[in-house]
Amino acid sequence: MMDTLHAGQMNAPETFDSVNPATSEVIATFPVFGQAEVDAALGRAREAASWWAGLDWKDRQTRLLAWKSHLIRYIGRLAELVHNETGKPLDDAKLEIVLAIAHIDWAARNAKRVLEQRRVRPGLTALNQAAYVEYLPLGVIGVIGPWNYPVFTPIGSIAYALAAGNAVLFKPSELTPAVGGWLVSSFGEVVPEHPVLQLVTGAGPTGEALARSGVDKIAFTGSTATARKVMAACAQNLTPMIAECGGKDAVLVDSDANLDAAADATAWGAVSNAGQTCIGVERVYVVDEVYQAFIDKLTERMSRARAGDDREADYGPMTMPSQAEVVEDHIADAMARGGRAVLGGMQSIRRPYVDPVILADVPDQSTAVQDETFGPTVTVSRVSDLSEGVDRANANKYALGSTVFAGNVKKAMAAARALRAGMTAINSVIAFATVPGLPFGGVGDSGFGRIHGPDGLREFTRAKAITRQRMKPPLNLTTLTRSDKDMNRLLTLTTLLHGKRYR
Ligand code: NDP
Repeated sequence: MMDTLHAGQMNAPETFDSVNPATSEVIATFPVFGQAEVDAALGRAREAASWWAGLDWKDRQTRLLAWKSHLIRYIGRLAELVHNETGKPLDDAKLEIVLAIAHIDWAARNAKRVLEQRRVRPGLTALNQAAYVEYLPLGVIGVIGPWNYPVFTPIGSIAYALAAGNAVLFKPSELTPAVGGWLVSSFGEVVPEHPVLQLVTGAGPTGEALARSGVDKIAFTGSTATARKVMAACAQNLTPMIAECGGKDAVLVDSDANLDAAADATAWGAVSNAGQTCIGVERVYVVDEVYQAFIDKLTERMSRARAGDDREADYGPMTMPSQAEVVEDHIADAMARGGRAVLGGMQSIRRPYVDPVILADVPDQSTAVQDETFGPTVTVSRVSDLSEGVDRANANKYALGSTVFAGNVKKAMAAARALRAGMTAINSVIAFATVPGLPFGGVGDSGFGRIHGPDGLREFTRAKAITRQRMKPPLNLTTLTRSDKDMNRLLTLTTLLHGKRYR
């Protein structure tokens, strides 16, 4: 008996706790997956993947829709878990889940249309061929998720990877493993046959083990610094990856904008989720004529926002305690360089909470303008016109989302197109993330690859091209008996088709 107990203790797996950031209470305990456990999960996933890929489109669609309705039936329970692990208000958690559900629905309903085999025009030189393209699943996708939107963000990869016919190994952030576990077990209830979606828990080294395991693609969402490490780990097996990284999103406000709407959207975009949003508003560029009026309206709205853990709070604590230091450093740096706190300031840091902060006249080279703050703060800068706003917004290593508030639709559209960000919303914030058919992702330090929409489905596939000869070719070119006559005919035809002069 003693021996058995002793052996059990020797083999006890390493574990870690998930903790409520507002109360420091332990929520649950999870095993730390090492390389061996990740590899074993990958072995199970490979079998599950071939079963899942073998189902027809309708079967996969029905199961994904069943998962979606399961999430909406138990939205209260899942939202409670999100609230407990991240500290965000329950309604914000519900909003996040509702958005995720829309993506599961879209991916399930559109996978066949986007990915199934279709004919492609063969072109004049290959008229005797029938040509086809289809998008086949890659196999097993490793999804590495962040803690700030523990449902919406990973579902943006998981739902599309599953709908495309892949199995998934999901490593949630060590801060939100219970939410990850809930998502995986709810999927297991509607797809009990095989472990098509599995949970892999642990901290950074577990994510690294997943990136090294030989999965067929990694869908990473997190900071730019970690993306670099994941990419290095992926390089060993030439494992491709999507990197959805941080942002420093700007709002541009033109002189003819609806200032109430602009201030309202900016305030929400800056403080919701305590500013811990990759597409949260961190910078605002306002055209001179309306600068003061905008600041007044923004101050009025942001000063009403309250951080707390109670049901009426507008937003919760900093989920990751160390993030408060980054926010504090950015405010200090802005003030030291001559910036002005229009609302709040250093005193706004009340760990684990941070009150809303508006900074004005902050020099462009300060960290509050250049780096991701990830707190309920904004910098507001004066610009002479919308075009200067675009240039200043673009002068940043990040380029994820962005927003334009303007009355003139033509000007707003031109500014939106000129912004280097992957996504732009006109006259509202983050609307692009709520349209499932639109691609989501950034450029520069914000990463590469796209989730959501048809691009998001194709990210988890490999294109397969097939040609089928329908009749003998008029010119037989791919033979060792090719004649000079055939070559002459080819050159005559090519000159006819492509010889026209262009200037
Ligand atoms: P991190 O980069 O710290 O972590 C992201 C994930 O990577 C976590 O699961 C983490 O595990 C894991 N990880 C950490 N180290 C490694 C490693 N060496 N190899 C593999 N995986 C590793 O980001 P956060 O969780 O702090 O998330 C916040 C960041 O995510 C912000 O920059 C935010 O802008 C960005 N983000 C981007 C989004 C987008 O769509 N572009 C959406 C949401 C957030 P663990 O947490 O256990 O350490």
